[in-house]
Amino acid sequence: MELPARGSCQCGNVTYHVTEEPLYTAVCHCLECQKLSASAFSVTMIMRRSGFELLSGELKRWERPTASGGIAVCWFCPDCGNRIYHENPAVPEIVRVKTGTLDDPSVLQPQVRGWMCRQQPWLEHYSELPVVERQIDFKKAMADIEQGKDPF
Ligand SMILES: [Zn+2]
Ligand SMILES: [Zn+2]
Repeated sequence: MELPARGSCQCGNVTYHVTEEPLYTAVCHCLECQKLSASAFSVTMIMRRSGFELLSGELKRWERPTASGGIAVCWFCPDCGNRIYHENPAVPEIVRVKTGTLDDPSVLQPQVRGWMCRQQPWLEHYSELPVVERQIDFKKAMADIEQGKDPF
């Protein structure tokens, strides 16, 4: 990816940039990642702390035990709640940055998927779902549903 790559929280108060290539980028399907993303998985770049720099805003921390017996220290924007990165105090030289917070997340290509035992079953058929190029038309969908029609 082109460096430095900028990122921010959803409200924009927290901004950062990445000045080194990540070691690798991973998709995680674990239940913790489903909670934190409020979705089906999270995408994380595992990188050296020396390549990550906060540019503005202040982060708040929250921590939890991990399945492997360690501690995940989770840093997030206190204004919008957006998770920015995680760290493990036992491995202080590494940070795990949530790639969805990059201004252009498409610069990264995940290389591996973890916790497949927790993958949501519908993801196996994800590419078969009907697609809409932009926003799904809620009003039209509601009208179709009320008439007993398949909205998609
Ligand atoms: Zn924010
Ligand atoms: Zn996970």
